[in-house]
Amino acid sequence: MDCFYCGLNAAEEESEHFIRFFQTSDVMIYLHRDQSLPGRFVVATRAHFNDVTEIPEKIYWEFCLLAHRFGRAAKITFPETLKINWALCGNAPESHHPHLHILPRHVGDRRWPDFFLDYVDDYWPQGDPRYYTVIEKLIANSS
Ligand SMILES: [Zn+2]
Repeated sequence: MDCFYCGLNAAEEESEHFIRFFQTSDVMIYLHRDQSLPGRFVVATRAHFNDVTEIPEKIYWEFCLLAHRFGRAAKITFPETLKINWALCGNAPESHHPHLHILPRHVGDRRWPDFFLDYVDDYWPQGDPRYYTVIEKLIANSS
């Protein structure tokens, strides 16, 4: 498969960088394993599109609505969060698939208040219960 996100959508729930924790028929949501920004997650379309403008409106609204809903949940779950930054990506040849990084930002994070998209990859181990605690809280606070 030549698209990272198409591969991710078809793969096991937990992978090198992400844990899939919510999905609809059109949208997938992944907790980023970099939790140095508590609650960080990624929203991706289930189907492949080359650009966000190619997403049918119904799917686009769901994509944005779920980013908003779980971003609000991250803010509730982690009250130190001051701002939710969105980064709509999909330029790189290996991941040319619309995906949105949701970055919960707080004073004292590694580059506050500047924007950034990189990650710290000293992840908790795969299967670490701390990931699932974050996921439970995000889901509970998303309704
Ligand atoms: Zn794709």
